[in-house]
Amino acid sequence: MRYDELQIRLERISERIALAAQRAGREAKEITLLAATKTVAPERIRLGINLGLQHVGENRVQEAEAKLKALVDLRSASIWHFIGHLQTNKVRRALELFDVIQTVDSHRLARHLERGASEIDRIISIYIEVNIGQESSKSGTSPDQLMALGEVLSQCPHLRLDGLMAVPPYVEDPHLARAFFRKLRELRDLLNQSGLFNYHVGGLSMGMSHDFEVAIEEGATVVRIGTALWGPRPG
Ligand SMILES: *Cc1c(COP(=O)(O)O)cnc(C)c1O
Repeated sequence: MRYDELQIRLERISERIALAAQRAGREAKEITLLAATKTVAPERIRLGINLGLQHVGENRVQEAEAKLKALVDLRSASIWHFIGHLQTNKVRRALELFDVIQTVDSHRLARHLERGASEIDRIISIYIEVNIGQESSKSGTSPDQLMALGEVLSQCPHLRLDGLMAVPPYVEDPHLARAFFRKLRELRDLLNQSGLFNYHVGGLSMGMSHDFEVAIEEGATVVRIGTALWGPRPG
């Protein structure tokens, strides 16, 4: 894809984000565009960062490692989020590579992250991934386990909970995803009311290419967009 084509797509998405925010009485600047970059070549990610994309989301530790090597010169100009399923044996590497881990979904993973982060003396931003549609095929903590995981995280001084993340069930009509987005927002509000954290947990990472506008109307603070930006993935 050429530079100007990517620029046009990025502008269109930014416009759509701004319009959705306006409909919801929100400000566009409350919403972070995260470019989901699985299968996207480093040189295309480079174009994106040069066009002003700042947040990048990768699903696999190894794939991200290779890309970050090719993009070292842009490392400080970009914020890298892990958005895939994280295996505990990849935690150390993930902590070296990423700024944010969006997919914390178990006590076990939380404990590994806490230990790893404390060893390198760093506080890492995380999100809890919630399996909002309770699908057996998806990772994420189940909604009724959320408070228990929150309690564990509140005892982890090297993990800072930024918010909740979810990938709702795929539905053709994006408006049918609304109930899931709303539910994630309500869970975040419950978490705040619980008083477990002495700071406000504000983040809601939800909405992808086909439903990000509905997600924004329901309070998304981070939308993770792949195909609308880069075009269809191979395969
Ligand atoms: C691939 C991916 C996205 C982006 O999906 P698109 O439909 O291509 O926008 C968002 N979130 C996660 C977790 C992903 O794996």
